[in-house]
Amino acid sequence: MADAETRLAEVKARVAAAVARAGRDPAEVALVAVSKTFGVDAIAPVLAAGQREFGENRVQEAEGKWPPLKARHPDLRLHLIGPLQTNKAREAVALFDAIHTVDRDKLAGVLAKETARQGRSPTLFVEVNAGKEPQKAGVAPEQAAAFVTRCRDVHKLSIEGLMCIPPFADDPVPHFEMLRDLGAALGLKSLSMGMSADYEAAILHGATHVRVGSAIFGARD
Ligand SMILES: *Cc1c(COP(=O)(O)O)cnc(C)c1O
Repeated sequence: MADAETRLAEVKARVAAAVARAGRDPAEVALVAVSKTFGVDAIAPVLAAGQREFGENRVQEAEGKWPPLKARHPDLRLHLIGPLQTNKAREAVALFDAIHTVDRDKLAGVLAKETARQGRSPTLFVEVNAGKEPQKAGVAPEQAAAFVTRCRDVHKLSIEGLMCIPPFADDPVPHFEMLRDLGAALGLKSLSMGMSADYEAAILHGATHVRVGSAIFGARD
């Protein structure tokens, strides 16, 4: 099997090809390398290859591996892509440069307090439960507009974009289109969508952040 550096180069080439096919500006699309479950040994070659945006889904796991790497690479950007409990919001605001999973008022309120207290403003995305799956996080699509408005007006939080994880068994394209239309209607500039299996399709439908794990790091246990 190819090493992570080779796989990263291939993913970057496919991202660039999809961006070109979509007639979009390459600067509009960020590749977030999802390193969850992988240790520093696996991350090091990807960092050495120049990758600077990484995604993690657990605050505690990220705290265990990223602080020394962030100290060594000040241009590194860390994205929280997993659910955030309010009792971990303080640590999340301190460590992450972007949080993709804002999905309820209680969390928005705590994030507002922490960003003010720490003087740090991670880029925020509202997670939309595109397939309305009961076990999944995110606001229902029809409640997204009201929630984004409450984030701005009640919690004084600036929301940059929307994020979704389409149902595993579905064709993701209608979900990508729904998120794109919702983002456009709300005047939001960023869309976090697309994973290893569908990041090219996501780019064709407007993704600004693709979250790619196994296609770069290999299969997770
Ligand atoms: C794990 C994860 C990814 C990456 O998944 P791959 O299929 O390995 O690319 C993307 N987004 C979220 C929210 C994840 O939890």
